[in-house]
Amino acid sequence: MPRKNFTKNALKEAISGKLKRHFGREVEDASKEQVYEACALVVRDALTEHMIQTQNEVERGGERQVHYLCMEFLVGRSLRNNAYNLGMLPALTAALSEMGYEMADIFEEEADPGLGNGGLGRLAACYMDGMATTGVRGTGYSIRYEHGIFKQKIEDGKQVELPDSWLASGDVWHIPALDDTREVKIGGTINSYFNDQGKMVVEYHDYTPVLAVPYDMPISGYDTDNIARLRLWEAKSPIALDMKLFSSGEYLKAVEKHALAETISMVLYPEDNHREGQSLRLKQQYFLVSATLQDICAKHMQQFGTMANFAHKHVLHINDTHPTLVIPELMRILMDDHDMSWEQAWNVVSQAVAYTNHTVMPEALECWPVSLMQELMPRIMQIIYEINERFCKQLWDYFPNDFQKISKLAIVSDNVVRMANLAIAGSFSVNGVSALHSEILKERVFNDFYTIFPAKFRNVTNGIAHRRWLCEANPALTELISEKIGTGFIKHPSELKVLESMGEDKALLIRLGEIKRANKQRLADYIKEHNGIEVNMDSIFDVQVKRLHEYKRQMLNILHIISLYHKLKDDPNMDFVPRTYIFGSKAAPGYAVAKKTIQLINSIANMINNDPAIGDKLKVVFIEDYKVSLAEIIMPAAEVSEQISIAGKEASGTGNMKFMMNGALTIGTMDGANVEICEAVGVENIFIFGMETPEAEALAASGSYNPMPIYNDNHTIKRVIDHIIAGFGDGVDYTDIANLLLHGGNGGPADRYMILKDFDSYAAAQERVGQMYRRPENWNYMSLMNIANSGRFASDRSIAEYAQNIWRVKTNFAF
Ligand SMILES: *Cc1c(COP(=O)(O)O)cnc(C)c1O
Repeated sequence: MPRKNFTKNALKEAISGKLKRHFGREVEDASKEQVYEACALVVRDALTEHMIQTQNEVERGGERQVHYLCMEFLVGRSLRNNAYNLGMLPALTAALSEMGYEMADIFEEEADPGLGNGGLGRLAACYMDGMATTGVRGTGYSIRYEHGIFKQKIEDGKQVELPDSWLASGDVWHIPALDDTREVKIGGTINSYFNDQGKMVVEYHDYTPVLAVPYDMPISGYDTDNIARLRLWEAKSPIALDMKLFSSGEYLKAVEKHALAETISMVLYPEDNHREGQSLRLKQQYFLVSATLQDICAKHMQQFGTMANFAHKHVLHINDTHPTLVIPELMRILMDDHDMSWEQAWNVVSQAVAYTNHTVMPEALECWPVSLMQELMPRIMQIIYEINERFCKQLWDYFPNDFQKISKLAIVSDNVVRMANLAIAGSFSVNGVSALHSEILKERVFNDFYTIFPAKFRNVTNGIAHRRWLCEANPALTELISEKIGTGFIKHPSELKVLESMGEDKALLIRLGEIKRANKQRLADYIKEHNGIEVNMDSIFDVQVKRLHEYKRQMLNILHIISLYHKLKDDPNMDFVPRTYIFGSKAAPGYAVAKKTIQLINSIANMINNDPAIGDKLKVVFIEDYKVSLAEIIMPAAEVSEQISIAGKEASGTGNMKFMMNGALTIGTMDGANVEICEAVGVENIFIFGMETPEAEALAASGSYNPMPIYNDNHTIKRVIDHIIAGFGDGVDYTDIANLLLHGGNGGPADRYMILKDFDSYAAAQERVGQMYRRPENWNYMSLMNIANSGRFASDRSIAEYAQNIWRVKTNFAF
């Protein structure tokens, strides 16, 4: 959709205009960074216009709006994405080229904002893209963390965390909306009484006021003027730092309060799939929720003059339990500020909130101490108690006299608030993120709730922004696909399916191989530059990139690599398909086992890569600082996608979808969305191994799993683990890792994620991978089948399902 202002010459003029006005520079003497910013400003102007237009339409039209709350949005870089969506990428590339710049170099100037940890935050970002494109009136809400996820450095094989300062160059996309600044009250005490009219009045004393200042990021959609808005709140203190107070002794106190308030948006918690339990984190959650709801409610009152129709006009979608306080906070606003009765308010709230669950891992299910909530948000705690009391009465009707069950399902119990229970009680929809995960929620994790509220439970399988992950990240593949099936798939990803009938097209399969090789070369160059390792272009690029977590079982991959090393040492001339194992992942700074695992990867990389007997048959590469912009280089280059979590633990995964869409073949367990990927491509086009969920869960529940006999009887495994105990010649002691596998620790049983149990099956699947790779035509055929069947994993489809089955809003998406 080339628009009038986006011709090459118009862009050149606009960019040089921005350079002059903002930096006082002519094109010739501008830095790359300045050119980047000038380009971003030009693109932003176009978006801002559309954003205002969209907002006006929303307000005039009075259609139902979707508000998507999430503590994380891992949006990635914006310039290329926006230029692509606006249809101006070719003209911009040409304009820059005439000005003497490579487009790719200019893109590299943009910081990659790390406002998220991993899958959860990236999902939220992919959904913004989906909402914008499918025409949903959607706003995302999060926190404008001054420091996002840490920057990872590897020093002596170990992860070192450095602060990430992304704001300097990311700022361009954030448009302050100072008029919408809100005040959030933290802490203090409350005093409530009934006034003359018999209405309850709540007074707040000694609280810390925190200003929430919104910054709006316009999120473009493809081939549409609809803009989704990402509203990021920054915490500011309303207390001015007045130097005159210095002598009065008030100064330090003022500074302290000031700093405490602004700390709220200082840093993103780096724990992924783990609860943190810190008071600052709870403040962040309340800050996000309160600012967002005050904002939505104020606009709603302006527009409609009543709160009675709130649930008809808005959906509050909470992405995981982190924003669950929307439930008591909206109760508070409706009752305290808008005079609703409890029943009226509860009616509105429980019809407005929808909840997506993201994990079944017990250590990630959020619980907050009552005492902390009491201290930080006394009125909210009061409301939660009341919700709990009424909810328990309701439970009594279902499970009379079953105190044990009621206390298990209660919202407040054992002096903690269970956020998932609150989210289920106060929402009209609870969904999992893959078919398997949603079944596990119904059958196991939330089974009792499912018995009571069967209609609340649904599934929406995750999806990815296929324009970013395929069209932009892999332009050569996109061009090939477009040549074969036209460009319809860019808006209608299910059209990729047409490729399925082209498996006999030998020339197509050859070109698929050539494109993969060119993308491998780009990654190989990156690895050469950053790791100093020369990888073998004829080797299989086998990739495991994702957060480091024991349940994701990077260790299974590591054990297998060590076993291959032993085989090659025994017989250097054995018939062997060369392999390059590529890892990338961050570990939470407090997660010792995860950090040690990174070190272990680097230790074995050092040993293997420098062993002349191995040569270029086997290489191991750890890519530092895995993030969205790196994933965009890695996914198109991958040939094998490692999705090897223990069955039943990975809610969905989205990395798996990015890989398949770029033609990588999956080696994986029947976990999360792997199950649906397998169903989509057919079991002959994927390498499935390992226990399935019922077997894994039964074995874990029986308590009878013991890895020791496996270790003693399986020569390959014994040799690998003994090698880990002996070390890798770099003086690092890994007996702790071996002990976890053989004896357990950290409160867990031996080999908690049953790596030894699945090892043989994994090794056999890896063997099948090697055999298949010897037949490039078959391999490329399988790759084509993966691409052809990846359309259903586009976020446009996920968003259309949310819209149809949960939000009840219209989209222009055709299933
Ligand atoms: C997609 C993505 C993830 C999620 O990966 P999983 O394999 O699904 O856990 C994490 N981090 C980044 C940077 C991503 O792009």
